[in-house]
Amino acid sequence: RRAEFTKIKDTAAVTKDGHRITLLMNAGLEFDIEIMNETGAEGIGLFRTEFQFMVSEDLPRLKRQTELYERIMDGAGDRPVTFRTLDLGGDKILPYMEMEREENPALGWRAIRMGLDRPALLRMQIRALLTAARGRELRIMFPMVASIDEFRQARDMVDIECSWARRRGRPLPSLLRVGAMIECPSLLWHLDALLPLVDFASVGTNDLTQYLFAADRTNPRMNDRYDPLSPPMLRALASIQKAAEESGTPVSVCGEIAGRPLEAFVLVALGFNRLSMPPAGLGQVKRMILSCDREAAGRAITKMMGSSNGSLRNEILSLARKLNV
Ligand code: PEP
Ligand code: MG
Repeated sequence: RRAEFTKIKDTAAVTKDGHRITLLMNAGLEFDIEIMNETGAEGIGLFRTEFQFMVSEDLPRLKRQTELYERIMDGAGDRPVTFRTLDLGGDKILPYMEMEREENPALGWRAIRMGLDRPALLRMQIRALLTAARGRELRIMFPMVASIDEFRQARDMVDIECSWARRRGRPLPSLLRVGAMIECPSLLWHLDALLPLVDFASVGTNDLTQYLFAADRTNPRMNDRYDPLSPPMLRALASIQKAAEESGTPVSVCGEIAGRPLEAFVLVALGFNRLSMPPAGLGQVKRMILSCDREAAGRAITKMMGSSNGSLRNEILSLARKLNV
């Protein structure tokens, strides 16, 4: 297997019927650059900036943040990197930062909610990103956006930091793209308002599954209870893909399922053409894509979504076998 994946490392991921799929990886540490080179990932679709905070003994301030982002962008070269702003709270806590105990941390004061209420840290992070990116492209993405007003406010913060830098004559990124994660179900019914506001979106299926099924992703008892390969989830994903295509907004999927061949097969069938995944998934997903007839798969999956079955895993498995994927 390993040897086979190495062989296709630099092969573009194109389906048998000619659809090009961009394969990116999820990352969070400097070390990941090496992994990117080894796996042939085309960029980083999700850089989890909270990792630096979680492995650090104290709060990384402006300089340390800037240095990390610079090294990541230097290492990535021409390959795009999407930096997600701090996704703290919930199950991600920092030993050196005082955080209130919450009854329901997954539903609590976390991620962009913290960033908007206590903007000092988010602004410092945006400043670090802008400084690190001077003269090159910068992609910033906000986590856990639940309403489009939150996205507007977060984007305003980027604009404020840009003006701050401009007034001081500091060089800005050559191109700035600001996006949102789609991982709160509320956004599913406001995509028509959200998509024109964002430069890109990325579907966080880990949290989207958690919130759609009201099932704690950290509780092992829930592991096999809710299947992402089920009509509710597939309809949710299909509606995002369709809305994004109609509005001309680039959209990717960056949850763990993007790295599992059968789930990735479904994502490709639904029309997603950018997948960001744990690096271990890249070889097997690429192999799947090279053997996949996207349009035939798309027609079959669309039909299946009308099913009254709770899970479609077995049907999808048979379909993949039938299509020789
Ligand atoms: C997600 O929720 O799917 C995601 C990619 O983000 P995280 O796993 O960091 O919450
Ligand atoms: Mg998430």
